[in-house]
Amino acid sequence: MYRIGFGNDIHRLEKDKPLILGGVRVESEFGAVGHSDADALFHAVTDAIFGALALGDIGSHFSDQDERWKNADSLTFLSEAARLMKEKAFRVVNVDSVINLETPKLRPHIDLMRENLARALEIEIDRVSVKAKTGEKVDAVGSRLAIKTEAVVLLEKKL
Ligand code: MG
Repeated sequence: MYRIGFGNDIHRLEKDKPLILGGVRVESEFGAVGHSDADALFHAVTDAIFGALALGDIGSHFSDQDERWKNADSLTFLSEAARLMKEKAFRVVNVDSVINLETPKLRPHIDLMRENLARALEIEIDRVSVKAKTGEKVDAVGSRLAIKTEAVVLLEKKL
């Protein structure tokens, strides 16, 4: 049996904040604002897994009102989604994702993000796709006000 899941995320950008994406600290003039470490890629993939399992969303598992998750490493969220997935005897077939960010160029960091996702999900790196797009200088992404992410996952039930 297969299940598909979709997740997305948005975080506001501010000067002098860290920018963490897929567990990678990216040098950037603007960083993401959030309750946790604001890793918008991990958040979208986490939500996609919860979605595939119909287990609610990242906010229902890790409330942004909960002090425990303040400045939390978002790997914690992704790992919990992966744990619940395994508990239900599913595994990830593949992940595809998009990071929408105006600057900086993410190409040098993409493979490390893929590695981090692959390790957390216990799959080979060739099952993990991370793509990057700019906002073409329009909307909140193009105006460098926000970072947006999207992810889809396909899960397969182990026999
Ligand atoms: Mg988020």
